[in-house]
Amino acid sequence: MNYKLSKRVKKIKPSFTLQMATVAAKMKSDGIDVINFSVGEPDFNTPEHIIEAGKKAMDQGYTKYTAGPGMIEFRRAISEKLAIENGVKVASDEILVSNGEKQSLYTVCQAVFNKGDRVIVCQPYWVSFPEFVRLSDAEPLFIDTVPEYNFEPDFNDLQSKTTKDVKGIIINSPSNPTGGVWREEAIVKLLLIAKKHGWIVISDECYERIVYDGEFKSTEKINREQNIDAIVVTCMSLSKTYAMTGWRIGYSFGPKKIISAMSKLQGQATSCANSIGQMAGITALSGNQDCVKNMIQLFKERRDLMVSLLNKLPHISCKSPGGAFYAFPDFSKYLNKTVNGKVLEDTFDISEYILESVKVVTVPGDGFGGKGHIRFSYATSKDIIKKGIGKVESALIKII
Ligand code: PLP
Repeated sequence: MNYKLSKRVKKIKPSFTLQMATVAAKMKSDGIDVINFSVGEPDFNTPEHIIEAGKKAMDQGYTKYTAGPGMIEFRRAISEKLAIENGVKVASDEILVSNGEKQSLYTVCQAVFNKGDRVIVCQPYWVSFPEFVRLSDAEPLFIDTVPEYNFEPDFNDLQSKTTKDVKGIIINSPSNPTGGVWREEAIVKLLLIAKKHGWIVISDECYERIVYDGEFKSTEKINREQNIDAIVVTCMSLSKTYAMTGWRIGYSFGPKKIISAMSKLQGQATSCANSIGQMAGITALSGNQDCVKNMIQLFKERRDLMVSLLNKLPHISCKSPGGAFYAFPDFSKYLNKTVNGKVLEDTFDISEYILESVKVVTVPGDGFGGKGHIRFSYATSKDIIKKGIGKVESALIKII
């Protein structure tokens, strides 16, 4: 077909993690006994009482468009949740409900960045961050993180790369892909730098509730407690906390001017988030939270199992991640080693070798800007974790 696509679509990459999930699904449908450590969502079903709320919403006729920024009842429920759970007072008109948090992140970049701007992205990063930045015509500026300190920003690298074109920074703690949870002092340091330069801080907190060792503190809570007064737009999601990835419900909050601009953009893109999901969301946020506690307990047991098994593998080291459901072990000792006559040049090669030899799907860290590491999701059963890591071991011992 002699038809030219836009420059915009040509400059972005497809979602690499979704591609890995597609590889796993295809192998499974071909009858291959594949073990999938690439999963980016809880393996539990949405809790029953939330499903019931969705069904009831449909029976009661909540099947129409809602207010563009979100149903007022849902925004009130979010406002209450933010006050109780996160300790931040946010008015309903400072909240925007979106079709998954991903849409909030995309929209905030559209609302605040321009051509010529640079936006700091800490690497390893969630694959969509650089693309959100590029889609807003700005350019990502990658800075290093420190693996020994929960993959917190390397502030020396940040200072040395900062120019006056930098207009914002995207942060994500707990992080996908590293599982790292930043210490409060790192967030304070970053907020102070952002305030000094007038940067917008976009804080992706979709794994806020999946934290194992200690309390999670929202960036905006720290911003207020310390009277820093940086500009922060926080994006949160129901996807991971309530195993609701398919319902597509997320939200953001921040200064009214930015939220209104995002609402204007979103209104022209998708009108509103789905009505049934918003009604179910009210029940999720204001109902019994035992389902979340139980899920976190299970994830914690799986994390401990995954990390201990990974650390028993030859030449692998893995820090215990403080949150999310990903382990991010260091495979760098296998770089430039040979297997079946092929040199393993990066983690794409290592992941591919593991997939081909023992049918275990992992996600190469190089795809997240995390050289030498591989992401292992433990959103799967303990039996599968044991079986899968056993297979990885049988693959690794053949590498010389
Ligand atoms: N941010 C991060 C770091 C994620 O890992 C994901 C989903 O994988 C999202 C945002 C998007 O979540 P949602 O399902 O709410 O769009």
